[in-house]
Amino acid sequence: MIDLRVQTKLFIAIAANILLFIGVILFVIKPYFVEKSIEQDRAMTRDQIESVSEVFANHRLMLERTLVDWSVWTNVFDFVQGNNESFVEKNLGEDTLDNLGIGAMIFLDENREVVYSEFNQFYELDREAERTAFTNDLLRYVNSSGVKQSAVYGTDFGPVVFMSHPIFRNDGSKDQGGTLILIEKIGPDFMATMSAQAKTKLSISPLSHQRLTIERDDQFARVSLPLQSIYQDANWEINFSVKRTYYSNTETMLELGMFGLLVLGIGLLLTLFWTVNQIITKRLVEIVNELKGITKERNSRLRIRLNPGKRDEIEQMAISMNEVLDALEQTQKESLTRAFRDSLTRLPNRLAVEEVFMSLPESPRVIGVMGIDLDNFRRINDQFGQRTGDAMLTFFASRLMFYKEDGFVARTGADEFILIHPGWTVEELKIVANQLMRDLREWGLKQGMNHLTLSIGIDELTDPAHHTYEVMMARLDVVLHEVKASGKDNILSYQDIEDGSHYLQALEMERDLRHALRHDEFELYYQPIVSPQPFRVRGVEALIRWHHPQKGFVSPGVFIPIAEQLGLISDVGRWVLVRAITEMQAHAEHFDLFLSVNVSKRQILDGSFLEALEETLAMTDFPPARLHVEITESEVGGNVYELQQFIQALKAIGVKISLDDFGVGTSSLSYLQSLRLDIIKIDQNFVKGIPENKFDRALLEGLYQTFHTLGLDIVTEGVERPEQLAFVLEYSGSLIQGYHYSKPIPIDQLHHYLRKSVLTQI
Ligand code: C2E
Ligand code: CA
Ligand code: CA
Repeated sequence: MIDLRVQTKLFIAIAANILLFIGVILFVIKPYFVEKSIEQDRAMTRDQIESVSEVFANHRLMLERTLVDWSVWTNVFDFVQGNNESFVEKNLGEDTLDNLGIGAMIFLDENREVVYSEFNQFYELDREAERTAFTNDLLRYVNSSGVKQSAVYGTDFGPVVFMSHPIFRNDGSKDQGGTLILIEKIGPDFMATMSAQAKTKLSISPLSHQRLTIERDDQFARVSLPLQSIYQDANWEINFSVKRTYYSNTETMLELGMFGLLVLGIGLLLTLFWTVNQIITKRLVEIVNELKGITKERNSRLRIRLNPGKRDEIEQMAISMNEVLDALEQTQKESLTRAFRDSLTRLPNRLAVEEVFMSLPESPRVIGVMGIDLDNFRRINDQFGQRTGDAMLTFFASRLMFYKEDGFVARTGADEFILIHPGWTVEELKIVANQLMRDLREWGLKQGMNHLTLSIGIDELTDPAHHTYEVMMARLDVVLHEVKASGKDNILSYQDIEDGSHYLQALEMERDLRHALRHDEFELYYQPIVSPQPFRVRGVEALIRWHHPQKGFVSPGVFIPIAEQLGLISDVGRWVLVRAITEMQAHAEHFDLFLSVNVSKRQILDGSFLEALEETLAMTDFPPARLHVEITESEVGGNVYELQQFIQALKAIGVKISLDDFGVGTSSLSYLQSLRLDIIKIDQNFVKGIPENKFDRALLEGLYQTFHTLGLDIVTEGVERPEQLAFVLEYSGSLIQGYHYSKPIPIDQLHHYLRKSVLTQI
């Protein structure tokens, strides 16, 4: 899992932006609007103050007008002078004050004595005592602060508006008859009327501030308006509040706006988070994880899973990545092809077979397989040179390419090829196999090579469970092994082996071998083994020959393995032993020679050789010390116990043990040493490259040194050329067996050879 870097970064970036936005609103936009709204609210408050002042001023004006009307009047003048008795009766009716909108009207004479007072009914000052108290209050006020034109002063009944005017005659003379006072009670009714006119709720209270004051809170501006500005004397103020509509509206608006923005921002963030996760991060992580998987599995065929429904950039990227993977796979395939190709024949090599076999079209009904070995290729290579060997391989490869059609061919070893053809059956393969044999034989004849042969195993895999490389190779191995065991130069199918039909050939061979034993078709040839300096024949190796009545000469390399398989080797072995001892007894004595006979594994294991040996030695008086038994190195592995027993038995008899074809097998030196061998015969293949091949030279030199150190006698096989002899002489005191001295020869020829060798010191 990867950490969600992209997402987090985006998240932070956007969150930061939203915060910045909110910051701007909070510190720039909000103050601006707030200021503006405060300004607007102030203006509104000012307007309201003005309108309240106006309402009171108008009221005073109205009172003044009434006051002037009544006080500049001769009737009133006379009345306060005591000369107009009927004034009250005539002018002050029950409803007069009410109609005038005045609370009380009080007439004073020149000495400020109350002449008459009239009260509005609504003032509820009905009782005489109350009126007297009110009037006394008034007089006390007038006497203490002088007669004011206008005032508001507090009484026991609450504040009242006080208005006064001197009383004059109508004619304009300056004589003041007294003073007329108008009173208006500032009660709930009065305030209600004023509030209605000022269009705001007004209240009155004793003066607390000398000046106009405005106190603001979030909601309201509370105004205290002193009445001094309107009345000459007033210790009262009017209170009212103006709602700060603009301010609170702005505040609410901004708060709402910010809240909305926050909600929007969070919503946006979540949406973004989800979207980025859904369409980007999640899929990117998926792709990354898939890529990791592909890297881990190292399987070039894996691809990122695509999402064909989506056609966005990420999908495009995934497609591009797959294209890169395609290209990589292609490159890999190409380099594999290069690694999988044999440079000489240009055919794919063994490594490619598995690859190809795995990538065969989906379960074909049948897969035809053919394994081919070029018989004795090594010998041909040695005998005719590597160039010819190469030419033979190239030629053969070209024939395979020619016949393969849409199958597949590969060179799986130095002289091994394989042909795979889905759909071909054994019959079809056999036709090609025969054709290949014919082609090679003809080519060989043109090159002056007599009998080029092939070992071919074929197989048809019909069971899909067998359609694997391992099964295919295993079955092919079995067939090819059978072909070689039956003497090479043959075509066998796995099916032949399964139904036993290949034994028909073997049966034929068995019959022939039995016939050969009875009819004396075998003969022994002897090949001298010599010590070169000074020259002396030290011994001979008995090598069997078969003159087949129809087939002519059959090589022991071919029929010995078959005889072994058929269980006839013990009979053959017994024959060889008896014949060799009988033929060689005299010569061995006379020329002081040892006699070397070959024994195969089977003879060792079934005890037949020991039995035959004891019998023969008892029958003849051949000295056991002159007898050497050759055990083939490649056969020695396994059956360690039996082999040790065998060797012990031979030692007990006094027979010597020779290890044949050393270097072909893979036995370790320490193991060989434990076998207590007497002689090691180094396989002819080591000598072949001498002296040209540096590697062979080093190898042989090393072997000589090792065996010398181990105190073993050595026979070097296959010495053909003087240079080879020179090399052996230089590096060892090895005995020598090879065409340089003599091929295997019949007994009478050997007799001549031995005589001559003694006489002439060849
Ligand atoms: P081997 O025991 O290694 O015998 C030596 C083989 O090398 C012989 O082949 C011999 O002809 C050949 N040879 C010797 N000197 C040279 C040389 O200088 N150049 C070349 N190119 N070849 C040389 P041969 O006689 O065909 O025998 C083949 C094999 O058959 C023997 O190999 C041996 O394993 C087996 N064999 C022969 N006779 C008997 C036998 O009586 N019993 C058993 N069990 N196996 C036998
Ligand atoms: Ca031998
Ligand atoms: Ca040998």
